[in-house]
Amino acid sequence: MTGFLSFKGIVKKFGSAVVLNVEQLEFERATYNVILGPSGAGKTTLLRVTAGLEKVDAGKIVLDGEDITNDPPWKRNVGLVFQNYALYPHLNVFDNIAVPLTVKGLKKEEVEKRVKEVAQILGIGELLFKHPRQLSGGQQQRVALARAIVKEPKLLLLDEPLSNLDAKLRIELRSYLKSLQRKLGITVLHVTHDQSEAMALADEMVVMNGGLVEQKGTPHEIYRRPRTLFVAGFVGTINLVPSSVFGGNSDEWVAFRPEDAELVSECVGCVKGTISSLEYQGSSTIVHVRSGELSVKVVASPELELMEGQEVKVRPRRFLRYSPSGK
Ligand code: ADP
Ligand code: MG
Repeated sequence: MTGFLSFKGIVKKFGSAVVLNVEQLEFERATYNVILGPSGAGKTTLLRVTAGLEKVDAGKIVLDGEDITNDPPWKRNVGLVFQNYALYPHLNVFDNIAVPLTVKGLKKEEVEKRVKEVAQILGIGELLFKHPRQLSGGQQQRVALARAIVKEPKLLLLDEPLSNLDAKLRIELRSYLKSLQRKLGITVLHVTHDQSEAMALADEMVVMNGGLVEQKGTPHEIYRRPRTLFVAGFVGTINLVPSSVFGGNSDEWVAFRPEDAELVSECVGCVKGTISSLEYQGSSTIVHVRSGELSVKVVASPELELMEGQEVKVRPRRFLRYSPSGK
């Protein structure tokens, strides 16, 4: 295994249910990695086995050349942040951040120096003597982050760290997380079910479903070359049309993105239908076309004069094919 963080042959069961089955997964040092998948995919379990909060039933986890599979959590040098902040309510911000250092038995002066440093980096230097209940959600999440990075972990694990924040703050803290990772040169594993969050943040992303890795790659690779129908549908919008519509005689699916299709006046083997609705977006218009049971979306120029009920033909310029199994 070569990566900074590697998983090999990981199996995790709860009772008889296999919730994690990861053959091989590698992450490079100082990269921002996002694990994306629907609820129940096994994302949190993957983080928990990495942190040592759950034991694996089989397999090996290697961090920076060290086999950590059987290490207890406190020996793993890993920082962890959950979506619900999990701050100690009776401690002020300073003491919350200091916990991992005092547990380690560091001297008072050293603790103070490092807490102040990390609070500075996170922009919460003014809040050190407040209690969690006096802070906004975004501030609490920064304190949780400060506590996770104050012991300078080799790996930072973030489990849906933005889900409890409102939309505006979520976007703000999201770009903040990326710049923090770059500044500290730390390796991050960030879990989310939000595909736009994943695409915006990831150097590399992993799409998980049912405890399995569906695909790993850059956001661009995942978006442009989804390996399975599941990935194609989960990341971005995709139109799915039986190949018979295009004159094929197999039972394959033809899949294409709305921006990879166009409205044409004449074509052989294209989707013929009527416009069911128009969604103006300013720089483009999303045209919803209904064709019998099928519904497809096409990105069109707002300059085109289009009307609901109008008959149109849709031609994919670029498409992918999937077998009925979704591969
Ligand atoms: P995600 O974070 O992607 O939503 P989880 O890792 O939390 O998924 O859960 C994966 C599967 O494992 C789910 O089916 C969940 O119900 C099950 N699971 C998680 N934790 C436990 C547990 N402690 N006991 C039993 N089943 C669990
Ligand atoms: Mg989860």
